[in-house]
Amino acid sequence: MSELRLSEETLTVRRLAMVEHQIIRRGVRDERVIEAMRKVPRHLFLSETMRESAYDDSPQPIGFGQTISQPYIVASMTEQARISKRSRVLEVGTGSGYQTAVLAEIAEHVHSVELIPDLATRSAALLKELYPGRIHLRVGDGQEGWLDAAPFDAIIVTAAAEQIPSKLLNQMAMNGRMIIPVRSVTSDNQELVLARRTEAGVSCETLYQVRFVPLKSG
Ligand code: SAH
Repeated sequence: MSELRLSEETLTVRRLAMVEHQIIRRGVRDERVIEAMRKVPRHLFLSETMRESAYDDSPQPIGFGQTISQPYIVASMTEQARISKRSRVLEVGTGSGYQTAVLAEIAEHVHSVELIPDLATRSAALLKELYPGRIHLRVGDGQEGWLDAAPFDAIIVTAAAEQIPSKLLNQMAMNGRMIIPVRSVTSDNQELVLARRTEAGVSCETLYQVRFVPLKSG
């Protein structure tokens, strides 16, 4: 079991290599996102037995049948959300809390909702330690959004919906962006969709194919 106790140095080397090969080489350009991916210790968001594969180019199990997304997907979704320090940000599906942490490296305050209480409890402790006072978590159905904290400049949904929840659309600020995987009801297909609110209304654009766990109803 000794190989599981990787040194901080080994983990940092792996993280920087992950950013170079999986993030920058695949076309992520936003420096804030790249810097956030360099900083967040992804291994801390996995159970100890999974830390060996924390910087692999793939999603990983986090328990309860859920997964932490592949690093590239986290970076790409964050880049598409175009957030800055002052952005009001909502994540649906806290899960391990890794995506939440990447968002918190850029935005001062991040709101995130998780349906499974045990997952929320685990990630809340870690996020509180890493970003005290800046992450606002709630247990419940994220399809309801977070009315008291709306409107949001950016909404990132990390589980696949059958259709974009109308309450999330209603909680988007003017010029706000929502990144959400949308799944087909008749096939295994899922597409990452970028929804934008402009003066003219909401427009949607498909970015690329993805594979997320399904968004569940609370
Ligand atoms: N962002 C997470 C991804 C976790 S997988 C990470 O980086 O680890 C998707 C998560 O969405 C799971 O934790 C799942 O429990 C949660 N989820 C599914 N349906 C949900 C809903 N309706 N509201 C809130 N969370 C939901």
